[in-house]
Amino acid sequence: MLEVKFTADGSRCTTDLFIANPDKYQGLLICLECGKRAWFTKSYKTKNGDRTACFSARHEDGSLKATTILEAEDMEGIDQDENGDATSADIVINLDKTKHGSIEKSTDSDKTTAPPHNWEPSPKPHVIGGKSGFPMDRSLRQILSYLTRNPLYGTGKSLHIQAESGRTVLEGMLRDLLVEVPNIKEDDYTKMKIFWGEINNYTEKPDGSLWLNYGSWSEPSIILNKDLKLDVMEKYRMKDLSRFHGSHFIVVGVVDKSKKGKPFITSGFPKYMNFINYRERER
Ligand SMILES: [Zn+2]
Repeated sequence: MLEVKFTADGSRCTTDLFIANPDKYQGLLICLECGKRAWFTKSYKTKNGDRTACFSARHEDGSLKATTILEAEDMEGIDQDENGDATSADIVINLDKTKHGSIEKSTDSDKTTAPPHNWEPSPKPHVIGGKSGFPMDRSLRQILSYLTRNPLYGTGKSLHIQAESGRTVLEGMLRDLLVEVPNIKEDDYTKMKIFWGEINNYTEKPDGSLWLNYGSWSEPSIILNKDLKLDVMEKYRMKDLSRFHGSHFIVVGVVDKSKKGKPFITSGFPKYMNFINYRERER
């Protein structure tokens, strides 16, 4: 899309307007037709030449503005959900078994500093006797993959997240632990939960911290302090953060509120979080 709606005053925002004042528009843009949240995508180099800057969104089905399709990269274990997972009521996640890695696949064009990069999936899980009802090994990434397909995934399943040492990080019924952002309830604050949802945009603060934003300044953000940001970038071998636009996230962490009432989610280690990125394909 080359034009979107600015929700603050209903005006139209073009790519030129956005480039001139990104802070004004970021997190406040929607598709003119279907009203889904939009984000700015910088121009970048492809095999077929430079792609111009545009706006992207996860459109409603049938939106005429949907000139591109978002394709998930490295969804994990989707087929297993039908056959194995359905027969087991218990899920075990060992956070230390998740591996991160990423390959920079494309180079900057002159107009951008934003090479698309790809997340590599964590290794295929070892399934422990799913058919006979033993707990299923799952990764955070798999659970996120399931949730993006079916936001009600996990009904009736218990979850046990453990560290390599065997220490329990989180335990309970999966649906009680899951919080879909932005639907944070008063009861969720200051407790460890599993947050998941969509990232619309990000901001880097002067102190080096990274804010992954659901939308505008008043809506929820995941805050990675500088060390955690650098850790995540190293684990995923990231040079650039713009691939977070439109990503789905899952974070085992705690939500708190700023003085102005903005919810912010924090977490301890890169292994407590996972992201699914999307690449755009022309229709
Ligand atoms: Zn649309």
